[in-house]
Amino acid sequence: MATIFEKIIAGDIPSVQLYSDETCVVILDINPMAKGHALVISRVGYPTIGDCPEDVFTHLCAIARKVDDRLRTVLGCDATNVMINNGPAAGQEVPHLHIHVIPRFTGDKRIVMLEHDKYADGELVRYGEKLRIAD
Ligand code: AMP
Repeated sequence: MATIFEKIIAGDIPSVQLYSDETCVVILDINPMAKGHALVISRVGYPTIGDCPEDVFTHLCAIARKVDDRLRTVLGCDATNVMINNGPAAGQEVPHLHIHVIPRFTGDKRIVMLEHDKYADGELVRYGEKLRIAD
């Protein structure tokens, strides 16, 4: 079944579009965490970053950077949260790769934060050994 973003890209569902190219579209999130919250959406509906070719992902990141610049310039925000809910367990509702770019203002009190966990003795190093990535 087509995701809502496929329907938006096909023009079957309306959206407010900020940018479009052969690889992605940028739209405003309809249910924003802050006004101006934008979504950089891959035209191909890869569910997660692991499914997405590296060059496409690099491009999406480059466009997210342009969106960040635009939000700072036009809205005068002080910062942005740039995030991907990368799979359902991470809160991804639409299984179609997209990058959230959310304007933030100093003191806006909008918290986008996971709770911190704690390592037991020696566990930090063991995680480091397990997760080290070969060149
Ligand atoms: P995620 O939880 O990372 O999959 O985020 C999906 C996002 O898509 C949410 O922030 C929704 O508010 C947004 N969204 C869902 N439907 C639409 C729509 N029709 N137009 C714009 N944004 C949408």
